[in-house]
Order: sequence, then C-alpha cells, then structure tokens
Amino acid sequence: MRKKIVAGNWKMNMDFSEGISLFSEIVNMVRDEKKGDQIAVICAPYIHINSLTQLGAGVVKIGAQNCHQNESGAFTGEISAKMVKSTGCEYVIIGHSERRQYFAETDELLAAKTVIALQNNLTPLFCIGETLDERNNGSYYQVLEKQLENGVFTLNAEDFAKVVLAYEPVWAIGTGLTASPEQAQDIHAFIRAKVEAKYGVNIADDTTILYGGSCNPKNAAELFAQNDIDGGLIGGASLKSRDFVDIVKAFN
Ligand code: 13P
Repeated sequence: MRKKIVAGNWKMNMDFSEGISLFSEIVNMVRDEKKGDQIAVICAPYIHINSLTQLGAGVVKIGAQNCHQNESGAFTGEISAKMVKSTGCEYVIIGHSERRQYFAETDELLAAKTVIALQNNLTPLFCIGETLDERNNGSYYQVLEKQLENGVFTLNAEDFAKVVLAYEPVWAIGTGLTASPEQAQDIHAFIRAKVEAKYGVNIADDTTILYGGSCNPKNAAELFAQNDIDGGLIGGASLKSRDFVDIVKAFN
C-alpha cells in the first residue's frame, strides 16, 4: 500500500525549548484536526529527537536529518543509524541537496547510508533533485536517473520497497519558486516509471514519492491531488505549527 506522508524538515533551526514548544503545538493540532490516514513526521535536529519521540506518542512520527554510514566507532561528532533508532525515531532523511552540496555527499556515500538505515529499521526518506542549471539545460531527467541508479537502485527489491523517495528540485527549495503541479507530476511519473522498469509494477505502485520545495498551505492540496504525488517534504512551512498542520490536512 502506497503511504501518504507529510514530513517536516526543520533543518538547523529551533533551539531545544523552541523545538519542544513547536512540536507540542503540532502534536495537539494533528491529534485534534487530522482526519485521513496520512502520516505526519517531523525530522528534527538530533538533540531534539529523544524528547520528541516521547511527546509525539505516535501521533506525529519522528525522523532524523542524516546518519553516519558506519555502525559505530571513532568518528568524532557523528551519529549512527543505530543510535538514532534507539531513541524511538522511525525515519531518516538521506541525500538532501544541502548535504550533497555543503557536505559533498556523493551518490555512493548515500547508498551506504541507505543500507545502514535499513539495517537499523529506519525508513529512509531518500531525496533527489536537479539544480536550476540542470533544469535550464535540459539534463534533469539524466541527473535524476543517475541519482536513483547510484543511490537506491543498488538495493534488492525487498529493501527498496521500504524506501520513501522525495523529489526536491534544488531551484524550488527555500526560494518560493514551487514546481507547478504539472512540472512536479511529470517528474514523479518519470520516477515511478524508472522504479517500475527496475523493480516491477507492484513495487512501483506501492512506492511513496514526496514532493519538496516551497510547499505551503496554499499550494499543497493541488500538488497532493496529482496522481503520482504522495505527500510532501516541508522546510520553511514546518517551522510554523499552523502552516505545517494545514499542509498535513491538505489530504483530508
Ligand atoms: P522549503 O519548503 O523551505 O522550500 O524546503 C524544502 C526542503 O528542503 C525540505 O527538505
């Protein structure tokens, strides 16, 4: 069954008490207002995760924004998938364009992170997306295909079926330039066709593909109404409880 998911990505925002307050508001509003079977997730900074999993009480699920590719060891300052999982966290973002760009994360490294996340029973939210240059020069289909092939198509079918994909065009992140519903649907259908070619129609039908990039309460319903868009990965709007919960409710 294809899941519907709205995941907030707080990025490097919210000190500890701000995060607890915002998250408490979100949990209360989701508990009171959500009607459908969509899943609400908040991907928080590591230091918040343990407290948020307790507060979330299953109403709002928790994700990390990254994990290390090794199980444990001498990697000062890093956090492993096993450590993340041990706090009750269920999801982890892998391959966000900010990690690819600012931390030089390659497709091969992201493939390794995906494997370790799955070994620790975390659901990877695996991000792909093209830059503005790649959109303008027409190479974006090849760029996305390469990110899929090297990042997640190395998995066997059983493991791939546990991955959630997110299409986040870099030119739409934090810019207010949302992809139009038609542009986003076109790419989501392309991604699903690639999944079908690799893993078959059943897995392709069941793969959740999220859209991310300037998604807000005004544009979410139209985006989520597209055939191949199964939810959103929300940056800026997840830092305001009302906006985030209105996006969750865009599925109602
Ligand atoms: P914005 O919603 O702020 O554009 O960010 C999207 C994003 O990067 C989510 O991971």
